[in-house]
Amino acid sequence: MAERISAQGLTKVYPGGNQALSDVSLEVEPGTFLVLLGPSGSGKTTLLRSLAGIERITSGRITIGTVTVADGRSHLPPERRDLSMVFQDYALWPHLVVRDNVAFALRRRKLSKGESRARANAMLDRVGLGKLAERYPNELSGGEQQRVALARALVAETGLILCDEPLSNLDADLRERMRVEISSLVREAAATTIYITHDQAEAFALADRVGVLQQGRLVQTGTPEEIYTQPATPFVARFTGLSGELPVHVRQAAGGGLIEVEPAGAARVRPFHARMPREPLGAGLALLMIRPTGVRLCASHTGEHHLAGTVADVAFRGRGYEHAIDIPGTGRLTGVFSDARAHRGEAVGLRLDPAGCHLFAATADPGQAPALADTGAPALGAAGTS
Ligand code: ADP
Ligand code: MG
Repeated sequence: MAERISAQGLTKVYPGGNQALSDVSLEVEPGTFLVLLGPSGSGKTTLLRSLAGIERITSGRITIGTVTVADGRSHLPPERRDLSMVFQDYALWPHLVVRDNVAFALRRRKLSKGESRARANAMLDRVGLGKLAERYPNELSGGEQQRVALARALVAETGLILCDEPLSNLDADLRERMRVEISSLVREAAATTIYITHDQAEAFALADRVGVLQQGRLVQTGTPEEIYTQPATPFVARFTGLSGELPVHVRQAAGGGLIEVEPAGAARVRPFHARMPREPLGAGLALLMIRPTGVRLCASHTGEHHLAGTVADVAFRGRGYEHAIDIPGTGRLTGVFSDARAHRGEAVGLRLDPAGCHLFAATADPGQAPALADTGAPALGAAGTS
């Protein structure tokens, strides 16, 4: 039975004064798959461990189902919160064979030994490890160990599954296959799932809803589509995949939720449209953040282009080509998709699509210099999940 989980005003200050969570509130509807996305050190693990009861919160309240499991005064230990966890490092018992590792999750269920073994075997069959039940964890590959950990989390049939970067120790190919398995197995189990990752593509692929963490604060929650098409802050935009950033002059509202802007400096060819920003902008320069879906190559002689640049690099991606384009006096856009290969050094035009162009006040995110094309996250190329 899927559980609702809610957190209100969570704060966590570690001994020594390090504040890892600041006023985090979230509501997760039963059966929802929530991914918490944030860079290293943003508080993801602290939040998950607080929900699990491994960490004590400093203040706030956590409710699972109808039970308050933690507030400023009380704290239910993990084993009384009726949840399962999957960890990055698998956390299997080295001295137990695979079947006993899985059956261990049933130890509180007052089942006969035979019944526990039968359920563990059935779950191992579901994750494709039926034949390895007698092996020890050190006789398994990383992917197999993570499958055992997943089987252990699922066999207990808890209403809540918490996953801490379960795929990050696996290589790329296996990660993609395991992602699909996790997605379908936890959805079959109809559990509420909270899954943390620093990988934006993984987050968007898995999630019903995404929450973005920055320095211990939850800065935006929404569906993957909402986060991608309406990033609330420059930080969220950068962390969820940009081609690059461009300083622009704001000219005038253009109707239809659009606003006319003009690139500052040498990049300028002609004005174009961006989405109207959420917050009103002051006069002067603003920052245009461009998704890979918001820019495409076009021949500069056709006169359709908004920006002019030079091809710095081209990468073949199977479905087409991704280009890095140097914009004179401004910087570089990466992941610029085209069906055709443009050659290094070639002069090209760029056409911008307002749906993928997000405008922020130049001062909206002090402390983060607008480093062009350096998003700290893999770009969502047109050949990727965008
Ligand atoms: P993430 O999982 O997003 O990488 P963490 O929750 O592990 O982030 O860490 C958030 C912040 O809390 C970081 O600044 C980290 O250094 C700090 N932190 C994590 N664990 C402890 C601890 N046991 N004691 C003190 N500080 C900690
Ligand atoms: Mg972590």
